[in-house]
Amino acid sequence: MSVVGIDFGNLQSVIAVARNRGIDVITNEVSNRATPSLVSFGPKQRFIGESAKTMEVSNFKNTVSSLKRMAGRTFQDPEIQEIEKNYINAELVGVSGQVGVKVNYLGEEQSFSNVQLIAMYLQKLKDITSKELGTPMSDCVISVPGWFTDVQRRAVLNAAEIAGLNCLRLVNDLAAAALGYGITKTDLPEEKPRNVVFCDIGHSNYSVAVVSFVKGQLTVRGTAYDRHFGGRNFDQVLVEKLAEQFKEKYKIDVFTNNKALFRLRAAAERLKKVLSANPQAPINIESIMDDKDVSAIVNRSDFEDWMKDTLDRVEVPLQEALAAAGMTSADIDSIEMVGGSTRIPAIKERISKFFGKEVSTTLNQDEAVARGAALQCAMLSPVFKVREFRVHDIASYPIKMTWQKSPEEDETEIVVFDNQNSVPSTKILTFHRSEPFDLEAVYAEPEKLPAGISPWIGRFSIKNVEPVNGQPAQVKVKARLNIHGLVSVEGAYTVEERVEEVKVEPEPMDTDKKEGEADAKPATPVTKKVKKLVKKADLPVVSGITALDASLLNQFREKEMEMYQGDKLVIDTEERKNALEEYVYDMRGKIESSYSDYIDPSIKESFLNQLNATEDWLYDEGEDATKSVYSDKLEELRKIGVPVTLRFRDAEERPSAERALRETI
Ligand code: ATP
Ligand code: MG
Repeated sequence: MSVVGIDFGNLQSVIAVARNRGIDVITNEVSNRATPSLVSFGPKQRFIGESAKTMEVSNFKNTVSSLKRMAGRTFQDPEIQEIEKNYINAELVGVSGQVGVKVNYLGEEQSFSNVQLIAMYLQKLKDITSKELGTPMSDCVISVPGWFTDVQRRAVLNAAEIAGLNCLRLVNDLAAAALGYGITKTDLPEEKPRNVVFCDIGHSNYSVAVVSFVKGQLTVRGTAYDRHFGGRNFDQVLVEKLAEQFKEKYKIDVFTNNKALFRLRAAAERLKKVLSANPQAPINIESIMDDKDVSAIVNRSDFEDWMKDTLDRVEVPLQEALAAAGMTSADIDSIEMVGGSTRIPAIKERISKFFGKEVSTTLNQDEAVARGAALQCAMLSPVFKVREFRVHDIASYPIKMTWQKSPEEDETEIVVFDNQNSVPSTKILTFHRSEPFDLEAVYAEPEKLPAGISPWIGRFSIKNVEPVNGQPAQVKVKARLNIHGLVSVEGAYTVEERVEEVKVEPEPMDTDKKEGEADAKPATPVTKKVKKLVKKADLPVVSGITALDASLLNQFREKEMEMYQGDKLVIDTEERKNALEEYVYDMRGKIESSYSDYIDPSIKESFLNQLNATEDWLYDEGEDATKSVYSDKLEELRKIGVPVTLRFRDAEERPSAERALRETI
C-alpha cells in the first residue's frame, strides 16, 4: 500500500512518499521533483504535466493551467472572470454548473469541468507515483490552502475519486508543513510552547499560520491569507513594465496578442528568478510578434520599485495571523519560509523586518508541504508506523446551522463551528420538534469567503420526527466538521427522559476514629431517583451537499477511464512503432556484419529487402498505423530474425562452454 503526500500547487505539484523509514520526494518522467499543473488536449491524446508544459505555446488554446484556482468555482464567479481568465489560455465555459474549459480534443470540441481537469491531473500524478513505487498507488493525502471552502474541498475530493485515489485527508498546506517541521525537531519544549510562523508564498497565494509546538504536538493558533498574492503577481508587474518599454522601443503592443503576452510572461518569470540572486538581469525574446525580437535589462532595485504596492501587502496577513493567535511578534520564536516566491529577497526582508528577526529556512521550501502531507498520510495509514505527533488544526470560517422558526423555539440559527474551531470536531445540537425539519449549514460570515463562493454548504433533512405523548420530541443532531474540513450531519436521534433508580454509594466511612468516639455505623446503600436522557431511536437524515451527485461522478469516472485508455493506446502504439523501427535498423546492421555467417544465404537477400521495405513503409503509409499492425509486422520480421540471432549467440557461447567443460575435467 502506498503512503503518499501531494502538494497540489497552482503552478506545479510535489509528490512525497513515505518509505525506507523516511520521506522521499519522487521525480517524474523527466527527473523533475515538481510536475507542472497543466493539462493539454491534442488531436490524438491528452498531454499532462511535463508533456503539457512543452506544448504550452504550440497548443496554446488547448492547454489548461490554474487548475487549483478553478476548483469548485462557477463560470460566473467574479474571481474567475476578472482574475483567473487572465491566466488561462483555454476558453472558459460553464459545465454542469461549474467552471470548465472548451477545447479541441480528438478533433472535436469538448468541454470539461474543473473537477474533471483536476482528476486528469491527479491521475497523472498517480501514474508517476505508481511507476516510481512499482505498485499501484491509492491512499494519499492532498494539501489545499486553509482558505478553501466546502465546495472547493469537495471538488478536489471528487476529482481524487474520479482519478481512483483514496484521499485519506485534505490537509491544509501549512498544517502539513508544520507537521513536517515538528516531527523532525527533537528539541521541542515540554511546557512553554515554541511559537513558529509559517509563511507560504507560492504562485498564486499567500498563507500564514502561527503554530505552537510542544513535545509531541502542534496547535495552529491563527491563520491569515492573501488569496491573490504570489509569483504570478510579480510576473505581471514585470510584464506590464516591459510591455510599456516595448511599446515605446519596438512599437508593439503585446496585450493585443495573447501568444506574445504568454511568451513575455514566461520570460518575465525567468527574469524574476534571476533577479532573486543577481542585481541585474537581461530578457530576450525572439520574434515575439510582428517578426520583432525584443530585449531589455532590468535592475533588481527597479523591480522592487515596480512591485512596491504588492510588497506593501506582505505585512497584512502577518498582522492578521498574529491577531488571530492573540500574540505579538515578540511571542514568535522563529519564522519559516515555504513556497517558491519566498526566495525573493525583498519579500524575505519585509517579513524579517516585521518580526524584527531573521527568517529561517530550516524547511525545504519547495517540498515542505508535500513531505508533511506524506507524514500525515503515514499517520492515517495502517501500514506505516510513525512517531506519535498530534496535529490540532483549525477551521478558517465560522459555520452556522439555520432552520425555519418553529412553534417550539424562537431561535433560528446557531454558530456551530467558529472560525478557530478545531478540525475535526463533532457538536451535538438539541431541538424540540413535532415534525420533520430541515437544517441548513451556511458560512456565517459570507464577506470573509473568496468572492463568488456561495455561503451555502448543505441542507440536512431530519426525517421521521413525531410528537411523543403529545409533546415535541427531543431531537439530537450530530454536526461534524470532518477531517477534510467538510461539514456534515453524521446522524440524528431522539432522546427520552427516563426516571431511573440508581444506587448511590454511601459516603466512605471516617476511619480516622478519634479517641473516645463510638464506632461509626456502617452505611447502607441507598437508592435515588434520577432523570436520565436515553437514546430512543435513530432518525434518517437526508443530506443535500455541493459534491457531485453519484450519477455525474460515475459518468465522469467512466469518461476519465475511456480517455486514459485512449492515451494509453496512443502511447503503446508509439512504443510498438518504435520497437519495429529499432528492430529494422538493428537487424539490418547485424545481417550485414556480425550475423552475416549465421543467416541462410538463400534468405539473406529477401530478408534485407523485407527490412528495407518495412523502413519505407514506416515513413509512408505506416506512419500512422494501429498498434496491432506494428506488432504483426514486428512478429513477421522476428520469425526470420530470431533463429539467426539464436544461432549467432550459440556460436558465441560455445567456445566458452567448451572451455568450461575442459576446465572441469
Ligand atoms: P500555489 O501555492 O499558489 O498553489 P505553487 O505551490 O505551485 O502555487 P510554488 O511552487 O510554491 O507555487 O512557487 C512557484 C512560484 O515561485 C512561481 O511563481 C515561481 O516563479 C516562484 N519562484 C520560484 N523560484 C523563485 C526564485 N528563485 N525567485 C523568485 N520567485 C521564484
Ligand atoms: Mg504551494
